[in-house]
Amino acid sequence: MGALGSGLGGGVELTIANLARELRSRGHIIDIIAPSGSELGDLSIIPIPGEFQLTAQTQELAASIVMPGNPVLGNMWAKAREVQQDYDIIFNTAFDWLPFYLTPFFDRPIAHFVSMGSQIAAIDLAINQVAIDFPGTIGVCTRTQALTFSFADLCCVVGGSGVDPAVYEYCETPGDALAWLGRISPEKALEDAVAAAERTGMKLKIMGKIQDPDYWVQIQRDYPYAPIEYLGFLPTDELQKSLRTCKGMLMTPRWVEAFGNVAIEALACGVPVIAYRRGGPTEIITDGKTGFLVEPDSVDGLVKAIGRLGEIDRFDCRYAAETVFSQSAWGNGIESWFYRLIG
Ligand code: UDP
Repeated sequence: MGALGSGLGGGVELTIANLARELRSRGHIIDIIAPSGSELGDLSIIPIPGEFQLTAQTQELAASIVMPGNPVLGNMWAKAREVQQDYDIIFNTAFDWLPFYLTPFFDRPIAHFVSMGSQIAAIDLAINQVAIDFPGTIGVCTRTQALTFSFADLCCVVGGSGVDPAVYEYCETPGDALAWLGRISPEKALEDAVAAAERTGMKLKIMGKIQDPDYWVQIQRDYPYAPIEYLGFLPTDELQKSLRTCKGMLMTPRWVEAFGNVAIEALACGVPVIAYRRGGPTEIITDGKTGFLVEPDSVDGLVKAIGRLGEIDRFDCRYAAETVFSQSAWGNGIESWFYRLIG
């Protein structure tokens, strides 16, 4: 989809960085094969040139598998094949047909991290085949995400990500603003959060990559008087500085969000999350304790929950991030999954 660090990869970018850091701290050696131009701080990257392809989330169920003439994804997997003997396991984070199709041609085990729900039938078919031929190698973020696939029972729920609590500062006394974080793209339905901000009169701080510029322009046209402020696509440290002072975060995905990294980042700052009762957030947020789960696609529901934000003890949010959704808890799960696959 894009180079690591660009934001185009969405939550997977943070997932890769946090997992690599966690496993490295446990003494493992990790090299990341990624498109040229990728940057992930001090993590080791093997840069691969080539052209990007269409992202899966913008395509129809019946879409064909189309690859560019010089595909970066194909080149990345050629590199993986060349160096596979130097590693115990290959971890795939691409939601794409090719890595699943190539799986039987590799000697090393491949752990596939599937970070989206069912999107394209041809990809589902390829994943299903791997799930049958290589049991235990399909990892998904949440049970609700797995249920979008006909082969849900062949998937292992390995969690979506984990945050390092030291990177996010807890804020006990917030201001009055709300936050919305994510890729600005139709499946994220930012317009619902903007509508809720307009109705409540509360400022909405928006942070994230503008993936679909026309969509963003349309939102601004439709809600010219909404009290919104776009802060850009921020690096994690700046993001948490701005996020932690917010009274709550709104999560409004129209699609079945597989997980929702932004939810655990908000919790780490002590910020309660109001989300539609759909997909990954339903397995992250405890209704009434770390936020509110509201009727999907209901702006009324968002507005009512915003009025109840004062009922949440922000420390409960931080506590969930430090325990259930911490980088080390997630590392435990992934490490034992890898050990099982390596045998
Ligand atoms: N993000 C960021 N800077 C921003 C806004 C968002 O780095 O200004 C990151 C955020 O940390 C999260 C990702 O964008 O890791 C969004 O991931 P999420 O899982 O919520 O959704 P996805 O894009 O994967 O569907």
